[in-house]
Amino acid sequence: MSKPESHHFQAEIQQLLDIVIHSLYTDKEIFVRELISNAADACEKLRFHQSSGGAAHQSDIAPAIAVSTDDKAGTITIADTGLGMTHGELVENLGTIAHSGTKAYLKQLAEEKKPDVGLIGQFGVGFYSAFMVAKRVTVLSRSFVPEEPGWQWTSEGGGGYELTPAPDLPRGTKITLELKDDAKAFAQADNVERIVQRYSSFVPFPIELNGKRLNTIQAIWTRSKQEIKAEEYNEFYTFVGHDHDQPLFRLHFSADAPLAIQALLFVPGRNFESMGMGRMDSEVNLYCRKVLIQAKAKGLFPDWLRFLKGVVDSEDLPLNISRETMQDTSLMQKLNKVLTGRLLKFLDEQSEKEAAAYEKFYAEYQRFLKEGVVTDFTHKEALGKLLRFESSALDKGKLASLADYVKRMPSEQKDIYCLLTPNRAAAESSPYFEVFRERKWEVLFLYDPWDEFVMEHLHTFDGKTLKLAEKAELNLLETKKAGALPEAAAKSLAQWLKETLGDKVGEVRVSQRLVESPAVVVDADKFMTASMRRMMKAMKQDAETAAPVKHDLEINPAHPIMARLEVMRLQDGPLAASVAEQILDNARVAAGLLEDPRTMLTRLNQLLEKVLTKA
Ligand code: ADP
Ligand code: MG
Repeated sequence: MSKPESHHFQAEIQQLLDIVIHSLYTDKEIFVRELISNAADACEKLRFHQSSGGAAHQSDIAPAIAVSTDDKAGTITIADTGLGMTHGELVENLGTIAHSGTKAYLKQLAEEKKPDVGLIGQFGVGFYSAFMVAKRVTVLSRSFVPEEPGWQWTSEGGGGYELTPAPDLPRGTKITLELKDDAKAFAQADNVERIVQRYSSFVPFPIELNGKRLNTIQAIWTRSKQEIKAEEYNEFYTFVGHDHDQPLFRLHFSADAPLAIQALLFVPGRNFESMGMGRMDSEVNLYCRKVLIQAKAKGLFPDWLRFLKGVVDSEDLPLNISRETMQDTSLMQKLNKVLTGRLLKFLDEQSEKEAAAYEKFYAEYQRFLKEGVVTDFTHKEALGKLLRFESSALDKGKLASLADYVKRMPSEQKDIYCLLTPNRAAAESSPYFEVFRERKWEVLFLYDPWDEFVMEHLHTFDGKTLKLAEKAELNLLETKKAGALPEAAAKSLAQWLKETLGDKVGEVRVSQRLVESPAVVVDADKFMTASMRRMMKAMKQDAETAAPVKHDLEINPAHPIMARLEVMRLQDGPLAASVAEQILDNARVAAGLLEDPRTMLTRLNQLLEKVLTKA
């Protein structure tokens, strides 16, 4: 046997190894997952090479993974018939920092004073995790490249490793771990079996443990729906979704045109973004004939569908496509179009067939759908169908779709009306709602601050314009009650109000749409609504510099206050003026527009005093 070559680890690797070796990390079992996934990667790469016609040493041996344990010797061995490593690759891959997981982990370590070693598992530092449990690691590897010889790589973690020629190896890599005294449990077959099942059930290559096949369930998305049991779907979901809860929805479908697609998609039970876990990343993996092309494939779905998990498999993807160019191929766009369309159709169907589940889905994910309406012009129509709102036609807590609304519209109603409001009670007592109640026209109550922008972007549904109730130009149907001011008197009262309130209002008009309220403020600006103003105001740092906002005031000639005021203004000018200001402030309160209630309170107290003096 030739003399071993000694090599030093790169400084960063040594730093990493010191942490790994001395960590008290409890989840040490993840080293099994890491080594098996490396073996599976090696198998996948070999298959990829062969499927594109490449030659390989021992080409008749199928890619597979074999784990063996030796209780007495205190070892565990993970062997694969994948693509193996050459001398150069052993040096490069197992001695320097070239791969993403390790880099990210080291960056994290550099940023923190007291590094959280628990993150080892999260970053999947891969190969080096073996040193958490092993006092010595021996790697025997032979590359698939026919003329390359085999090599033995061995290390105890401290300082460096040795390389020795190992001529007669079969293709692939065999990694033996001589376990530390406190890690001997990993030489027990039962224990290892449990770990492999937990992490590696769906590895698309046979995994044997001491000669017994472990992973019998594989890429289920390629099988027909009828054959697949609910437990298999659930198990699969747990694996791809890293989520032990049940998914809300599952969509398993295949298509032949325009692309051959097999997809198994899940909507998780909970919206992880709403739980303060930051922006989600789509967890849909892209495969071609069960070979992974891209994990968490970008561009497969529009951004607003980033909560989806699952797999998409398409035979039409060229195998030699690189991961980098995948994103902007027209093929990806085609896939996106088919998949998104299918998913939207599915959700629409579920809203009918599985109303309760859809309601749950909507409660969790409505913000994503709304984001879609605003950002995704292509799917706006279909997304509009999925929106739900409380409605004046339904009880509190029940949700209506825009389609339901349209079905209920009387023939004389042309538009769809919405009211932006903080809650049901405020909606029903809003002066803007009065004319609708009287006409028995339905109004959708919008409670989410996003809704105004959403409705503006949606603009129409089923050919009907979406309108805000506060902008509706509608009159009451019934003629006025007894005691209403005659038209001429109402007009002169309006004129007097304008003179009295001066710059505080735009116009003052006689309204034809109020029942209960004495007056209402209406935005003079056709395009700006009260809630938009509020939002803009909130965004402005310095409210003082913003131009003062003037609203028009509409008065209700049938309201007793107006009838009395018309008399009062001739008898007691100052008191009438005070009442006029109060009426304006009350209307602002009803619209949610009053900014500083203090002047109003002073005036209100003066009014009360006068009332009591008269009594
Ligand atoms: P990662 O898998 O994130 O790249 P690892 O530390 O797990 O990082 O592995 C480092 C590299 O070593 C791999 O990228 C691969 O090139 C090589 N490697 C590890 N195990 C094997 C194996 N069983 N067969 C072939 N190459 C391997
Ligand atoms: Mg790895």
